[in-house]
Amino acid sequence: MSRVKKLFRQEILELSAYPVPDASGMLKLDAMENPYSWPAVAKEAWTDLLKELPINRYPDAGAQQLRDGLKESMGVSDKYDVLLGNGSDEIIQLLAMAIAKPGATIMAPEPGFVMYKMIATFCGLNYIGIPLTADFELDEQAMLTAIKESQPELIFLAQPNNPTGNLWDQDAIKKIIEASEGLVVLDEAYTAFTDVDHLELLDQYDHVLVMRTLSKVGLAGLRLGLIIGRSEWLDELDKIRLPYNINMLTQASALFALQHYDMLMVQTEQLRVDRVVLTSDLAKLPGLTIYPSEANFVLVRTPDGMARNWFEELKQKGILIKCLDGGHPLLKNCLRITVGTTSQNDRLISALSQISASGSVQ
Ligand code: PMP
Repeated sequence: MSRVKKLFRQEILELSAYPVPDASGMLKLDAMENPYSWPAVAKEAWTDLLKELPINRYPDAGAQQLRDGLKESMGVSDKYDVLLGNGSDEIIQLLAMAIAKPGATIMAPEPGFVMYKMIATFCGLNYIGIPLTADFELDEQAMLTAIKESQPELIFLAQPNNPTGNLWDQDAIKKIIEASEGLVVLDEAYTAFTDVDHLELLDQYDHVLVMRTLSKVGLAGLRLGLIIGRSEWLDELDKIRLPYNINMLTQASALFALQHYDMLMVQTEQLRVDRVVLTSDLAKLPGLTIYPSEANFVLVRTPDGMARNWFEELKQKGILIKCLDGGHPLLKNCLRITVGTTSQNDRLISALSQISASGSVQ
């Protein structure tokens, strides 16, 4: 047996790394990125700022100014604190590390964001995925039963959910929170694309935290996520956050972006409008089932056996989306399409029309 195999945990050896496909030269509609860049004047002001940064020094370890800026932009009450991560992925990892006692458990509805399970594995935790109903609603009874049986230390509820794009019933969410003795994290990665948010749950429950990211509003390259909640929780998480986890370029760039928040919000508004157009254009394609989305992507179900084929054919036409077929039984024949610019969406629709009209089967 090789030394690696002898030394490393079996569950790590069995993992596959988070898949990131090569997208060079492709129209990227696979990763929920904002497709827009900034006007030239904004770019110039931003690079002027970056030029002056003392990168020979460590960044502000607590990123105080940025945390204050985020609280203000997001309307977070002074009662609550904000902790930053290198993407919200890092925050999921901090949470998992904090609860990682022997036998501890993370629970999430499925299909959901794959990193919850992956990070549970990284940290040696149990993971319980509770299937959604066939139309991707919360299976309230199944969740409540599973919570009662296993009392997970940590529950993730993504709202809107990835990859289904929908919001769940607020009462069901509250019942889950009330049934849980563990911490419940509302993952609002896609909050910019919906009118619903869960900040008020922080006032109602002391075992709830709200997690967000700047990745979907045009700053995926910066890697900046945040979690909002009572300092009672955040102070403990802060102890296991690596020092200087938010680098100086990210801190300065995100602060700059917050000063130009309107610019990001205009782009977000456009994506919300284009989501509606994209959804109705997709609905005109024969045989496709479209799921209503409150996020910056749309989940569709192709005719039986077509998803992988359509995904490959789109790829040949230079368009990268996400094929979910095989990822979870409820996602059979499913594809996830990120909302692009108006013309990118048009290109996708015209490519998909050709593919569906050619009636290709596997
Ligand atoms: N939560 C959800 C529900 C997501 O879909 C994603 C990204 N796909 C994340 C968290 C992580 O985002 P990031 O690490 O870019 O902040």
